[in-house]
Amino acid sequence: MRACSSPSGAVPCSSKRYRFMAPTEEPPIVVIGSGPCGLGAAHRLHEIGVKNFIVLEAGSEPGGLSVTATDEEGFLWDMGGHVIFSHYNYFDKVLDHIVRDWCKRERVSYIWQKGRFIPYPFQNNIHRLSAEDFHECIDGLVEMQQQNISRLTKPRTFLEWLQNNFGRGIVNLFMAPYNRKVWGYEPSEMNAAWMEDRVATVDLTRIKEHKGNGTNDTTWGPNHTFRFPLRGGTGFIWRRIYEGIDLSKFRFNSEIVAVDADRKLLRLADGSDLPYRNLISTMPLDRLCGLVVGRGLEDLPALVPRFRYSSTHVVGIGVAGQPPAHLQGQCWMYFPEDDCPFYRVTVFSNYSPYNVPMPGQQWSLMAEVCETAARPVDPSNIVDSVLQGFYTVKLLNVERDKVISRFHRRLEYGYPTPFLEREEVCGRALEALEAKDIKSRGRFGAWKYEVSNQDHSMMQGVEAVDAIVMGAEETTVRLPGVVNSKAWKKAQSCARRCHQAVERGQKKKGLEKRKGQERGDRKLRYYDPLALTVLLKKGWSMGKAESAALIDTCETAHFNDPGITGRETCHRQGGSEAIGSTETKDRIDGDKEGKGGKRRPSPSNVAPTAA
Ligand SMILES: Cc1cc2nc3c(=O)[nH]c(=O)nc-3n(C[C@H](O)[C@H](O)[C@H](O)COP(=O)(O)OP(=O)(O)OC[C@H]3O[C@@H](n4cnc5c(N)ncnc54)[C@H](O)[C@@H]3O)c2cc1C
Repeated sequence: MRACSSPSGAVPCSSKRYRFMAPTEEPPIVVIGSGPCGLGAAHRLHEIGVKNFIVLEAGSEPGGLSVTATDEEGFLWDMGGHVIFSHYNYFDKVLDHIVRDWCKRERVSYIWQKGRFIPYPFQNNIHRLSAEDFHECIDGLVEMQQQNISRLTKPRTFLEWLQNNFGRGIVNLFMAPYNRKVWGYEPSEMNAAWMEDRVATVDLTRIKEHKGNGTNDTTWGPNHTFRFPLRGGTGFIWRRIYEGIDLSKFRFNSEIVAVDADRKLLRLADGSDLPYRNLISTMPLDRLCGLVVGRGLEDLPALVPRFRYSSTHVVGIGVAGQPPAHLQGQCWMYFPEDDCPFYRVTVFSNYSPYNVPMPGQQWSLMAEVCETAARPVDPSNIVDSVLQGFYTVKLLNVERDKVISRFHRRLEYGYPTPFLEREEVCGRALEALEAKDIKSRGRFGAWKYEVSNQDHSMMQGVEAVDAIVMGAEETTVRLPGVVNSKAWKKAQSCARRCHQAVERGQKKKGLEKRKGQERGDRKLRYYDPLALTVLLKKGWSMGKAESAALIDTCETAHFNDPGITGRETCHRQGGSEAIGSTETKDRIDGDKEGKGGKRRPSPSNVAPTAA
């Protein structure tokens, strides 16, 4: 980067310099990227009234990996099956406010295994396997429990974690081959730190019960119901958030190619420079390490080759007519075996009828294929090989199904691999950048897969702003295990209720006390979701000083902010997109029941049909 006088001095060194700001202005807070993380940051800045910020986006539209494309035939395609899971009240409130019309869906998900569909989750439904495979799984579980493996050994690799938690049968049949196919790396090449202290329990008694009753166990996990925008796909959410912010803050087609962290100066691909006060970068961390310079950052370029990630191919196939009976209620399916190139397929037309141009007369399948050096993909025939795979695993039938649309997109950065050295490499990079007022956040910015979904990514942006503007501590990037815990959501609701009570004038005494010196008081900890979660996780054993420190971290953060919903800044869906809520509800309910009032196939009758 060419030498330049201090950014705040703002003496242009070339005609293009500082074109986004007047020479006398304070440098802005700059956000790199307008995916969910960058939009979360921008939304929060706008919400709390910060005017001096800019979002620079390399692409031509907002949304990042969470965009939705429309192909030439009018079919909608997310970049892989995107389902909204939420760990945050703030995220829920923003979404409630900006998107009015949702499809509510129940997770109906299967695993294709040796020519039959096994209900998800695999480990709870092993009674649906062949007798031989079932016994292999049971033997592995019994062996594991007898040896008490999961309690005794702390796993170093992801493979060890799988073996400790599921036993050799389930690992060999599903967990190892499936994870190999999703990640494009051996589970032994991945660390176990991202699993935190999670222990998966496989309930043998329950399995035996389901086997006896001939039923499936499908309600496991936090995401057994989800919602999806009625129109516009996942990308609609992020477009609405973008539209709720001052649009003049966004610069598209503005790729950052260099960062001078000492001068606090960004270089754009067109050769112009822009100074910043604080930087929130959501570009991939390995790329940032390769293009940042500054004292104390000299070792970052050497970290670049140590990062591991995978690329993703998204292949969409639009089909005329109706889906076959065994796919009518399906959401997504997993494919661990080598009889097809994809690891997951979504029946995307089941998420919303408007994901196809002629609802009811067409349907769609979307496949995800992983690419790494160990699993190369030939882009020139990936669509054909996915289509062939659909025929092999009986999702499509050559005679019955007429293909009317084909879509393909390759995402260079798809999954941030939790590689063995991740904690050391990313930890070093994030810490060094932080010392230079650069927060690298988001799916690939923080490179923490365990907090890289849309809700996590958006909240990383929100929390980064609270940290910069209000000095609050960030939770998501610092404590992934806390935000992913059951206690976290409960604690947020509890804290929110307390704040509302305070706002209504109740418990005023409590508030005064909290603002005073007596923060260690147990009752007062209820105000703070982070403190409360940690207390719950620690079984209330936290000391006064520790608790007070935690309360400090949250005092000014977003969950204590009355403007939490962004009510003033976001507007509702309108114009041609607006559908009366009653009509929408009817339509969704009708869709759920199937045409002509037919009951949707239940999970238990889908599997045998498909098999
Ligand atoms: C196959 C797949 C399936 C997924 N499924 C789900 C799901 O079911 N549920 C869920 O919640 N999430 C899912 N996700 C994750 C979701 O897509 C991410 O959580 C989210 O998009 C991450 O947001 P982000 O802003 O951190 O990063 P991104 O979305 O990657 O956005 C980063 C932005 O930065 C821009 N950028 C990069 N470099 C530069 C540069 N040098 N200069 C300027 N701009 C730059 C990019 O163009 C991009 O717009 C899935 C992702 C994939 C790939």
